[in-house]
Amino acid sequence: MEMINVIIDGHSYSVKKGATILEACKSVGIEIPTLCYLKEINEIGACRLCVVEVKGARSLVAACVYPIDREGTEILTHSPAVQASRKATLELLLSQHDKKCLSCVKSGDCEFQKLCRDYGVEDEHKYDGETPVYDIDTSMPHLIRDNNKCVLCRRCVAACDKNQEVAVIGANERGFKTHIGQAFELNLNNVACIGCGQCITVCPTGALMERDDTEKVWAALADPTKHVVVHAAPSIRVTLGECFDMPIGSVVTGKMVAALRRLGFAKVFDTNFTADLTIMEEAHELIERVKNGGKLPMITSCSPGWVKFCEHYFPDMIDNMSSCKSPQQMMGAVIKTYYAEKMGLDPKDIFVVSVMPCTAKKFEIGRDDQAAAGVPDTDVAITTRELARMIKRAGINFTALPDEEFDSPMGLGSGAGTIFGATGGVMEAALRTAVYWLTGSNPEKVEFEEVRGTAGIKEATYNVAGVEVKVAVCSGTANAKKLLNMVRSGEKDYTFIEIMGCPGGCVNGGGQPTQPASVRNFVDLKALRAAALYEDDKNLPVRLSHENEDIKTIYKEYFGEPGSHKAHEYLHTSYVARPKVQY
Ligand code: SF4
Ligand code: SF4
Ligand code: SF4
Repeated sequence: MEMINVIIDGHSYSVKKGATILEACKSVGIEIPTLCYLKEINEIGACRLCVVEVKGARSLVAACVYPIDREGTEILTHSPAVQASRKATLELLLSQHDKKCLSCVKSGDCEFQKLCRDYGVEDEHKYDGETPVYDIDTSMPHLIRDNNKCVLCRRCVAACDKNQEVAVIGANERGFKTHIGQAFELNLNNVACIGCGQCITVCPTGALMERDDTEKVWAALADPTKHVVVHAAPSIRVTLGECFDMPIGSVVTGKMVAALRRLGFAKVFDTNFTADLTIMEEAHELIERVKNGGKLPMITSCSPGWVKFCEHYFPDMIDNMSSCKSPQQMMGAVIKTYYAEKMGLDPKDIFVVSVMPCTAKKFEIGRDDQAAAGVPDTDVAITTRELARMIKRAGINFTALPDEEFDSPMGLGSGAGTIFGATGGVMEAALRTAVYWLTGSNPEKVEFEEVRGTAGIKEATYNVAGVEVKVAVCSGTANAKKLLNMVRSGEKDYTFIEIMGCPGGCVNGGGQPTQPASVRNFVDLKALRAAALYEDDKNLPVRLSHENEDIKTIYKEYFGEPGSHKAHEYLHTSYVARPKVQY
């Protein structure tokens, strides 16, 4: 790496040649504030929060896009001119802002709020004048957009366009009237938004938030006629701690269970159990398709953002998707059938809450064909962030909680279920079980390293009992589009594909804790959270779905065999082609 000598705030440093001022300063321990900048996807230098002085330059420059390629460059990062400029920018942004910090759900985590505080913006009404007032878009089950709190950084637009290639949002109008919206001012539910929530996780303000369903949960918990059951997805155990200032990648399974119990849930189950159930059904479906000439490649169906993407953008490939319900919906189905029968409960009196990394799960619970007992499989899906808010409101000291165990009979999950939360995890879990079914013995090594890692598209070929199995794993719908176009054209040919709607999989889902750009731009969140899942898998006593004793029991007592008629009726579903625009 070629280095270059620079002077920053009067001190000499050696930094990477060609690095931006932002990166160079970060490398020597100086943090420059940003608002619009998101590494690789939104490097537009537009908000001017990151301005610095460079000796010889005619005006302040944007540190996020200004490369250092001149020996001896002199930079001032917090001179009076720099501070005055940043403060004025914040004051101007505030002049159009709906300043509701007391009630705003983002308060405390808001990057804009923090910047105003850091820069001593005391007179928040300095430039008050005519202010556009926007309707709040509440048309989608997963997201609320309040443009009155938008600072027009366009991070959401970049996430939707570059990471997801869905591109249903953009800047409408010009000048003072500029706002984020859809083409022709349609509501979000009238365009092909896939509900992934990637726009929410990058928004620095409260302009984009998940629809908060916690009041429904509080109401159910207070209703004595309801038996309220909760289950938490694999990735929640490695992300929830971030909401309580624990390091990224902390495994908090036991504390999470303890907190859920203290909130008042009658039973706390583990979605890892139905991740294992999904593997049993999906691996069986794959083997059937291979043996009987079914539609290949088979594609996983546990990510509802991906499923909706397929329905909108690749309707010709709907039959490639596995018919398995997602683990969230399988859990709801078995709670309201198997568990209800075991406990002598009427499914109508059971209220199922899922804690999910994903905003698209809020859409999934309302899909057709998701009601095994004649009532919705899942009543409410909340995100990691919503659960954290409930724990905080209840005054539970999360970090001081003791570790507690999940309840039985759906509280036992294998390591294969745990790794569902990372891209490649479903594939690896399925391979562990498929090898057993095809060869009669477990794989010598349960780790399938080839499908691990955060690369957008991964491929591998395995020889299982003389059968060549070509697999691909991809995450983020921009990568899905690339991969499926290659499959469509015949350029690529696979047996089995795992697709997750969010880049990196559920660990980076739209419902996960938000991290500010100052972290997001310099830390690989996906990798740290995924590493925690793989560590959790390594430490679990059972690492293969078919060895989960509770899974064996549910088949023995209830479903018979994977793929049985009853399993199909309760655990499988169907899909529908959807238009791109609906007027
Ligand atoms: S978006 Fe941020 S600054 Fe605006 S009201 Fe919410 S917390 Fe306050
Ligand atoms: S939820 Fe996903 S698809 Fe919808 S606007 Fe946001 S990023 Fe785009
Ligand atoms: S909605 Fe949020 S991410 Fe999008 S432009 Fe506005 S402030 Fe930025």
